[in-house]
Amino acid sequence: MRAHAITVGLVIAALGCLASAGAAAADDLLIKNVTIVSPEREAPSAATNVLVRDGRIVAIGRELPQGIHGSDDVIDGTGRYLAPGLIDAHTHLSDIPGMTFEHELAHPDIARETRRQIPRSYLYYGFTSVVDMMAGQPDVIARWNDLDVRPHAYFCGAAPVFDGYPMNFVPKPFRYRITPYFLFDEARADEFPAGFAPTEHTPEAVVKRMHGDGAVCVKTTFEGGFPGQENLPLPSERIIRDLVAAAHARGMPVLLHANSQSAQTFGLAAGVDAFVHGIWRWDDPGTTGLTADVTKILDAIVHGDIAWQPTIQVLYGERDLHDPDYLSSPELRHVLPKAIVDWYGTEDGQWFASRMRDNPGVARALEDGHWEDLDAVPIARVTEALSYLASRGARLSFGSDTPSAPTYANPPGLNGRLEMRRWLEAGVTPMRLFRAATIVNAELFGLQDVIGTVEEGKRADLLVMTRNPMEDASAFDGIDIVILEGRVLRRSDLSAENGQ
Ligand SMILES: [Zn+2]
Repeated sequence: MRAHAITVGLVIAALGCLASAGAAAADDLLIKNVTIVSPEREAPSAATNVLVRDGRIVAIGRELPQGIHGSDDVIDGTGRYLAPGLIDAHTHLSDIPGMTFEHELAHPDIARETRRQIPRSYLYYGFTSVVDMMAGQPDVIARWNDLDVRPHAYFCGAAPVFDGYPMNFVPKPFRYRITPYFLFDEARADEFPAGFAPTEHTPEAVVKRMHGDGAVCVKTTFEGGFPGQENLPLPSERIIRDLVAAAHARGMPVLLHANSQSAQTFGLAAGVDAFVHGIWRWDDPGTTGLTADVTKILDAIVHGDIAWQPTIQVLYGERDLHDPDYLSSPELRHVLPKAIVDWYGTEDGQWFASRMRDNPGVARALEDGHWEDLDAVPIARVTEALSYLASRGARLSFGSDTPSAPTYANPPGLNGRLEMRRWLEAGVTPMRLFRAATIVNAELFGLQDVIGTVEEGKRADLLVMTRNPMEDASAFDGIDIVILEGRVLRRSDLSAENGQ
């Protein structure tokens, strides 16, 4: 992929500017008289023209090439903005939100229609690239990328320490097959599954294998557990240091699932590159104001230039499941077929919500009719932490964690749009948000030569919008056209309401 990008770069350098790109070829796309908003620019460009050939941006300039006419090839950008497509750096593409494998088998028609819509829903909200965080099977990603209309998917190989989070949720021995990059831990050598060789599960062996399978990043976890799933195995600092060394030797970042004070402290010591959750579990049980200890961690994140994904929608996804009006939200109709929204409302479809209500804390809040209070403390904490980091120029990475659990309240595409609202509520500027969802994510995964800006040589994953996203994040509600590798898609055609 990198070699290909360099080749394209050389071709562009030879062409120089749009006028010298010459006559347009039959499959060219011209976006005329448009204002470019792109994170490497301080301000929007003057009205200009962008020529796309073979799925790449080949020229940007004021002068029009010869030979362009015909309506299909030209988008009139007058009065409109052209932005790079967004990158959602935290998705789980194998899952249908709110459905288990058994539900999917029981309702194949609903599942098929929903699986067809999910990629379109990411595009509907402007996400033209997605990173799957916990892919164990590269074929899931390959099948996704084979779809006709879908954002381009990349993946992190999931390397939890064996039997650690999230392997604990899957029965043995099936868990070892669907999480093939799990790590050996010498301290628990006697519990290591029979039939697997420890030498195949060292950090070096695992990273080498996932790199060969096409992963662009390594994801690991530090998660002690939850009510009902306590005392999960944790990795040692040495294992994660070795994992980081093996990953960096191949140019891959290491991302850590870490939502607690102890997990982010651990990640800083082990030298990981990114935290893929905000810090919402604090040692001090009472307060939502930043404690001295949490502030120290946040300062270290700023100094270490560690990428930080707040993923506040994880918490809203738990809460909104109990909102009696949730399923009638009009926004939902664009990203999920009516058939599955109706199914969510059935007793069967409420399975995860019912399971959560078995938790005494949740049951109590619901008895008082206060579903909005669920997770109020962790939401306040992560919002405080995001505010603090944003004001100090931390490296914020945009990721929605869709879906973070088998909840239907993390709908594809829309969940990212809602995550944007959480950032704005924390005081993040639209400009920072725009950067986090474009160039910051592209650089995190080493994809900055391919995506993340509107520049010559990059893949033509672009958004034509009526408002300026650098000034106003509601611009993402006003996308007119999504351009995917040079292919023009009207946003309205991507809505589940218009699907066939
Ligand atoms: Zn996740």
